[in-house]
Amino acid sequence: MSIEAESTFDVYRDRVDRPLYRLFTEYGLDKRPWLLVGMAANIVARGASLLPPLVLGIAIDAAFTGDQPYALPLVPTAWLPTTAPDVAQFWFSAWLIVGAFAVTAALTWVYGVAANNFAHRVMHDVRTDSYAKMQDLDMTFFDDKQTGEVMSVLNNDATNLERFLDDALQNSVRLGVMLLGIGVILFERNAQLALVTLVVVPGMVLFTYWFMRAVEPRYAAQREAVADLNTRLENALGGIQLVKTTGTEAYETSRVEDTSHDYFRKTLAMLRLNYVYRPGMELFAGIAFAATFVVGGLWIVSGSAPGPLTGELRAGTFVTFLFLTQRFVTPLAEVSNIVSQYENAKASCERVFGLQDIPARVTDAEDAVELDGVEGHIEYDHVDFAYDGEDDLVLRDVDFAVDPGETVALVGPTGAGKSTLLKLLMRLYDVDDGAVRIDGRDVREVTLRSLRESVGYVSQDTYLFDGTVAENIRYGRFDADDEAVREAARAAEAHEFIENLPNGYDTRIGERGVKLSGGQRQRLSIARVVLQDPDVLVLDEATSAVDTETELLIQRSLDRLAADRTTFVIAHRLSTVKDADEVLVLEGGEVVERGEHEELLAADGLYAKLWGVQAGEIESLPEEFVERARERQAELAGPSGDD
Ligand code: ADP
Repeated sequence: MSIEAESTFDVYRDRVDRPLYRLFTEYGLDKRPWLLVGMAANIVARGASLLPPLVLGIAIDAAFTGDQPYALPLVPTAWLPTTAPDVAQFWFSAWLIVGAFAVTAALTWVYGVAANNFAHRVMHDVRTDSYAKMQDLDMTFFDDKQTGEVMSVLNNDATNLERFLDDALQNSVRLGVMLLGIGVILFERNAQLALVTLVVVPGMVLFTYWFMRAVEPRYAAQREAVADLNTRLENALGGIQLVKTTGTEAYETSRVEDTSHDYFRKTLAMLRLNYVYRPGMELFAGIAFAATFVVGGLWIVSGSAPGPLTGELRAGTFVTFLFLTQRFVTPLAEVSNIVSQYENAKASCERVFGLQDIPARVTDAEDAVELDGVEGHIEYDHVDFAYDGEDDLVLRDVDFAVDPGETVALVGPTGAGKSTLLKLLMRLYDVDDGAVRIDGRDVREVTLRSLRESVGYVSQDTYLFDGTVAENIRYGRFDADDEAVREAARAAEAHEFIENLPNGYDTRIGERGVKLSGGQRQRLSIARVVLQDPDVLVLDEATSAVDTETELLIQRSLDRLAADRTTFVIAHRLSTVKDADEVLVLEGGEVVERGEHEELLAADGLYAKLWGVQAGEIESLPEEFVERARERQAELAGPSGDD
């Protein structure tokens, strides 16, 4: 993205080699029959469409003026009504013309079906494959806020490729057949006049070459601008609440305006070339027509070949020439479309493969084993961790062990590394040094699926899918029956409010359904985890205020969930920490204190101070601590922080 520094995505996109060839070999090969049938039908259909002008010219010279024998190129004279009266030759020609139109129509249908099937089948595979690969990328990729770009790849770029595979590919076949067919017929009929007609062709080729060279970078720039625009819009809309509450609508509008204007400029820069190209090609075609008309006309009117030309030109041949000269205007004018679709497709294809090529780093090891029958012994063994591209360690030498069934509370100021620590347990990221172990097994040695099935996560910001209440609870345990879902909802203290919804468990929620309160959403996601029945539990305690009663309900359901399994709680309420078996106090990525509540209070360190703040014993954190935290944040934010 040009808005921010070069992303991983850009790096891999730039490395893609011969994208369209790759598209064909990776996705097109198994759908070859559709392509081949489509192309063959297209070729025959276009060839047949050239017959009428040819037959017309021959009929004029043979049947109408009667001064030529009736002869068709490549067809044995024995098949033709050469000796019959003129009227038989006329009817023969008429049927030939009708037949040619019928063949053209029928095969155009065949080619449409086959070409469409090819294009859309390829793109269906590309889309699903890209999505699957993208989904496997590690969180680092998504942290970069590249979802706008990903959406644009899966939408716009896929559409571009579809258009190319559908239209451009077949149009270029048509162009080739038409030019070749017209050329062959013209030369066969009258080579000298054909030279006159086709003298503009080298000019057209050079002009097209210039256009292709000039338009390519402009297309790439335009595509990038679309992606930037998408990212900007997504960003602004995603943060609409912040925008409104800070009254920065005008600022955001002007940012969108800038990005949109950039897109506008790049689109016009690209179109400016199209403006020149299209009329230019029409002009060349016009010159060809005019030259043919003047030279051929003079030839017939004066009865002798003009200038250096020799021989005879018949009226029928002249008619064939004029008709066919008209016919190459349309396919040639398409060249600009073909070229632009081709350039577009190449850029899009690079982006598709760029996305596909980004390696997923957090993946199953080759000999990964299933994590099974977990007891819940967790060990952090001298763990160091830094986010991608950051120099500073977010976790430094974190070292502790938890026995099965214990509850561990993580406390510490914001940014201390509590969430990060737990993300390592679920292997959303991999440690840089040291190891995280479950039941003595390094999390990197077990399959991601079994690991994440064993660890249940209740986050602060609950995400619910568009769907029914039951579907949301069942998410991840799709085979759970209705009774199990209800049971889970009961355990999560959610059953009662669900029953009161318009359609109970079948009530649609999410974007297009009933809006739920924060506390209700929270309980639904707890129900989901209850149903998952994980061996290890990770709770990110919500900071958002819910009413006391709801909080009580949530707390009760969480306590029930945490009982008998190893549980980590990121504790924002020190009251919940009191019951923990062990408290880890984090500061600046390090475990600075650990022990039980009472012990830590007695030690009179950071925990005691945090506790003091909570209980209102002291007014605020000591100044030196605040200062240290600030410095730490500034360091970590660094130059690549949010824009
Ligand atoms: P806590 O949960 O204690 O508030 P976090 O684990 O969320 O702390 O964050 C620890 C530090 O890591 C913070 O300085 C934060 O800015 C940084 N951080 C968190 N997530 C990311 C990320 N995805 N990329 C880069 N830095 C991050």
